[in-house]
Amino acid sequence: MSNCIKLLPDHVANQIAAGEVVQRPASVVKELLENAVDANASRIKLIVKDAGKTLVQVIDNGVGMNETDARLSLERHATSKIAAAEDLFQLHTKGFRGEALASIAAIAHLELKTKQDHEDIGTQIQVEGSEVKEQQPIVTAKGTSIAVKNLFFNIPARRNFLKSDQVELKHIIDEFQRVALAHPDIAFDMVHNSNELFQLQASNLRQRIVGIMGTKSNEKLVPVEESTDLLKVKGFIGKPEYAKRSRGEQFIFVNNRYIKDHYLNHAILAGFEGLLKDKTHPSYFLYLDIDPKRIDINIHPTKTEIKFDDQHAIYSIIQSSVKHSLGQFNIAPVLDFEKDNSLETNYKQHHSPAKIPSIEVDRDYNPFKTETAQRQIQQKSKPITNWEDLYSTEVPKTSTETVEFESKLFEEQEFTTNSKAFQLGDKYLVSAFKSGLILINQHRAHYRILYEALLKNITEQPAASQQLLFPLELELNQKTSLVFESLRESIENTGFRFSTSSKNQLVINGIPDLVQEQQVPQILDEIFSAFTDDLPSSSFESNTILAKALAKNMAIKTGVQLDQAEINQIIDTLFSCKDYLQTPDQKQIYFNLSLDDISKKFA
Ligand code: ADP
Ligand code: MG
Repeated sequence: MSNCIKLLPDHVANQIAAGEVVQRPASVVKELLENAVDANASRIKLIVKDAGKTLVQVIDNGVGMNETDARLSLERHATSKIAAAEDLFQLHTKGFRGEALASIAAIAHLELKTKQDHEDIGTQIQVEGSEVKEQQPIVTAKGTSIAVKNLFFNIPARRNFLKSDQVELKHIIDEFQRVALAHPDIAFDMVHNSNELFQLQASNLRQRIVGIMGTKSNEKLVPVEESTDLLKVKGFIGKPEYAKRSRGEQFIFVNNRYIKDHYLNHAILAGFEGLLKDKTHPSYFLYLDIDPKRIDINIHPTKTEIKFDDQHAIYSIIQSSVKHSLGQFNIAPVLDFEKDNSLETNYKQHHSPAKIPSIEVDRDYNPFKTETAQRQIQQKSKPITNWEDLYSTEVPKTSTETVEFESKLFEEQEFTTNSKAFQLGDKYLVSAFKSGLILINQHRAHYRILYEALLKNITEQPAASQQLLFPLELELNQKTSLVFESLRESIENTGFRFSTSSKNQLVINGIPDLVQEQQVPQILDEIFSAFTDDLPSSSFESNTILAKALAKNMAIKTGVQLDQAEINQIIDTLFSCKDYLQTPDQKQIYFNLSLDDISKKFA
């Protein structure tokens, strides 16, 4: 019988390896930039065409390669960075596997030009799908230029799998930012389709962060610095009041390598404890220096994860250095968040063991008497605000579970808004109906109403706009302006009108009727944050995210007093919504207290 096992030809092995190393154009960007850094370049330029689908080119002024090395660099397991397995434990370079260039060359057209400083003539090599097509001496500047064209030309399935240019470009910008943030002492440029996106001079860390995140970020940064035998921590954290709804500005570097690590992220958040609004994420740019012997970075081919020897110690050092700098710069005590307790109470309670509610009766309570009376009852009878819990067996109400009402507890026509509806504690709308009471969370109800209206504006029927006498201005950075461009039309359908004065300056000339001028910066910031972590893949998805972000911010807040007409209008409009049971985030909007339920209380 003949043998079945064969060694794979190199070009096949390379293609397989490429699948691991190169997922998308951004992976090429990462590998090429890191090689340029490893080559001790002081200036690195990234040129991208069509979000990298047509071209990714990195030009550096580093050490360059001689003819032999240039040829070898394209072979698999060819690396100048380690010679033996032990070297893995004292790595100070980005790359070490020696498979990036070979992998890229297996699935693209690659052109390499390189020259060392002391040589007169450099080398040019052209490779297509691992096959060397041409090699010749050339006159070129000191350093290396690698151009990668037509990525995945020989793997159509992979090429078709690529996302829109906007999404791919966003990934590229992510990689570029990570490398640029890790090396403020190197000058970086980035050009996309002949637009200069970044021009970063060699600088200190603060200037580098500001160069990437926009000039406004300067005032938000608080320095962190701590040195122990095990670990040095330095960098910046964002002041807690600037925490965002997206995680876009969180960077941890270990020995100047960007890593993503839940555990470390947790340690940083622990340092912020008690200072962050719910569901917001602080910015951080933290640089950890640790003896390479104490870490293992070889656990993932794209090397964004890391293992530490002494996790616990590292955790507490990071936590305390964040805490320390927040305290030192007087960030902690001056904070004042208008915490929206009413929205949170029920859901937090859900995780705690069931309590038997105590019911306090306020004998003086007359809901129609005065506003203070309402406030008093609301404070005195705290436990009653959780009476939803009494029903938790009947009406599931967490955001993850689907809210399934046993049946409609009341007929809609039976329910009429009239003077019987009133506001309770500036939070809830209460109305009587034939067989009981209905309690509506005012913020959630309004959120649902606006969401449906805005979604309609975005998709079917553009809303009117109110012209601003004095246009507002908003600073964008590269990423937010990318988000803005992709959403502009949809946002304008909701009533906003924009023009751009310069590349990074957004001018707002008109706003939706429902929006107050002073809310605008926050609303737009929310929208951009909602999209910076991940550009949605479909327009449907992006419309719903947009409508959600807008509606959530525009909806009346808990604590706002409403007049009778407003109360009635909210109740009426809510029940003409397509889905009046839950907010777009699947939170319960109202619940019923039936006469039966009430009778049981008197049993
Ligand atoms: P690794 O970075 O893991 O060593 P690569 O495939 O990325 O593997 O690169 C292979 C080798 O090619 C590197 O070890 C280095 O010697 C050389 N090389 C790659 N890019 C450059 C560059 N921009 N300048 C100088 N040498 C480079
Ligand atoms: Mg490399």
